Amino acid sequence: MERPASVVKELLENSLDAGAANIRVEVESGGRRLIRIVDDGCGMLRDDALLAFERHATSKLRDVKDLLTIDTLGFRGEALPSIASVSRLLLETRSAEETTGTRIEIAGGKMLRCEEAALGGGTVITVRDLFYNVPARRKFLRTEPTELAHIASLVTHYSLAHPEKTFLLTSGPSELLHVTPVASMKERVYQVFGSQVLDELVEIGTREREMYIPPPHVPASEAIAEYRREPSADDDPPSRTFRLSGFFSRPQVQKGNRNSIYIFVNGRLIRDRLLLHAISSAYHNLMPASSYPFALLFVGCDAEEVDVNVHPSKTEVRFRHGSFIHDFVRDTLRERLMEARPAPAFSPRTVEPAQPGAGLPYSEFSQMLEEVAPSAPSLVEPAAEPADAALPAFHLRPAAGPAPRFDFSAPPLEITPGPPPSGKLSRHLDAHGEFPPDSIPAPEVSLSALSDLRPLGQIHESFIIAAGRDGLWIIDQHVAHERILFEQVMKQRASGRVEMQRLLMPLILQLTPEQQIDYARIADELNASGFETEPFGNRTIAVKAAPANLSPAELEKILYEILEIAETELRGASLDDLRRNICASIACRAAIKINMRLDTAKMEWLLRALAATDCPMSCPHGRPIAMHYSTRDILKGFHRI
Ligand code: ADP
Ligand code: MG
Repeated sequence: MERPASVVKELLENSLDAGAANIRVEVESGGRRLIRIVDDGCGMLRDDALLAFERHATSKLRDVKDLLTIDTLGFRGEALPSIASVSRLLLETRSAEETTGTRIEIAGGKMLRCEEAALGGGTVITVRDLFYNVPARRKFLRTEPTELAHIASLVTHYSLAHPEKTFLLTSGPSELLHVTPVASMKERVYQVFGSQVLDELVEIGTREREMYIPPPHVPASEAIAEYRREPSADDDPPSRTFRLSGFFSRPQVQKGNRNSIYIFVNGRLIRDRLLLHAISSAYHNLMPASSYPFALLFVGCDAEEVDVNVHPSKTEVRFRHGSFIHDFVRDTLRERLMEARPAPAFSPRTVEPAQPGAGLPYSEFSQMLEEVAPSAPSLVEPAAEPADAALPAFHLRPAAGPAPRFDFSAPPLEITPGPPPSGKLSRHLDAHGEFPPDSIPAPEVSLSALSDLRPLGQIHESFIIAAGRDGLWIIDQHVAHERILFEQVMKQRASGRVEMQRLLMPLILQLTPEQQIDYARIADELNASGFETEPFGNRTIAVKAAPANLSPAELEKILYEILEIAETELRGASLDDLRRNICASIACRAAIKINMRLDTAKMEWLLRALAATDCPMSCPHGRPIAMHYSTRDILKGFHRI
């Protein structure tokens, strides 16, 4: 039990395990002075209440076998005794089966009082003066706002997983989160984060993938008997079903760390490298490698498929079939992105205040992964720049060449759930409650609309303006073409049929010793991508052929560029990453540039070809391609609605 947030987590999990529909968490001084959790769950019988403070006493497992199929959040029976040993704890509880309740008081692990009490149903646990008897631990507590932020984040996460329950979190007089039951996860997301965030998200729905379990090896002699045997009810099912639901952001929502990724496995909030990796790979070539999305994912599987007993605070799990679940998550997100093809909205939306608790930085879950940036903003820091001020700055690059590699000069569009609470958290906000009918997010606009746009012209000979059935579109011609070529090159590469052109004269390139090493490492991949290159004397290579759509003038630049990528980005990276990066480089070099005049036929071709790509959302380096200004926004702008 390291910090107030871990205490809250354990208590909250107990209330959820007790089937509570209504959970109230009160804290004072960031949980140092007081943590109280009130639930309307099943409560405890008097004897059980006493037993609950014995180490390893849990009501959740009957025998050792149950450890393999844990479907409760708690199972170790350690939380209550350890919390009671470092605080002054008061337990008030009544089970529906008893007419009176039980009140137990413990301080520093010593039982002070146990008495009958007239109580309502459910359980109230009050933890005061955390670590009062362990000064060394007290010293390691962070500032009150930070501890409070962790608590708020935790309660917020659990509230997202349980839309059917009421959660209330207060800190002294202020309400940080108050959500009442709603019918769907979507409405809960709306309650917690507001409509602006919801608009940025793609809903997964419920997706499933079946895993077939190979039958155990049966010797031939027994196989016949086995074959004749009638299947019985206890035969293992031949397959396991994995489920995925939740929300994840469009590629344009690019966050600097993983703090907005929330993963639940069978109702348990966890941090898992494998799944984080699966999420990142779903955004491969849709988002810069250093950016992360917002994701709220719920993975469901048989309890036997996941070992939850591998981490002291139960926040990590081990999957029995890790790579299956990794690929399932990656493919599902990717498929949903390709189906939804979400179009970034061009208009700044009005920022609605969300629940204050939701704007707080992430809990320590995220910090357990060491690579996560530790700089969680404090609660009392000034409000971040409002999201509507963060539209990409308009800088035209010179016509000379394509955009520099991996340069994402546009500030990332943050989904900021409203400004963080100002001052000392004194603001009180009502719950969003039910969806007000007019704030239901506009129907998702899909980039499939690109195929029947009417190009009107260009601005600055760089951006195509087009009219569609629903409003106005602006398309960045360079990145649009880059996406088209990227997918084309990747497909050719996959089928082993890259279109090549022979050079009239081989191009001779001088290499530095480092480049020589990198070249040796990627030579095969280069050749498979349509470059015919071979060593030509000492630290020199000869290029005899190149991918068809590259102009010979670009060739030298692009090869040096690929070598640079190989050097700086990809030492130790996978072959797949290397391949994608080479293809992205070719696409970028070969794509039409900005500051280039296009006639209507060319623009039409570009839009159709973009519409036909798998992922028209962003270029292979993660920049947005098209922005949409809906008719609704136009009407609003002219005060016609
Ligand atoms: P665990 O959750 O691992 O079983 P805990 O120490 O957290 O262990 O809790 C011990 C026991 O106390 C639980 O098994 C449960 O029976 C009981 N308990 C704790 N909190 C509650 C609650 N809010 N409502 C009902 N029972 C509870
Ligand atoms: Mg517990």
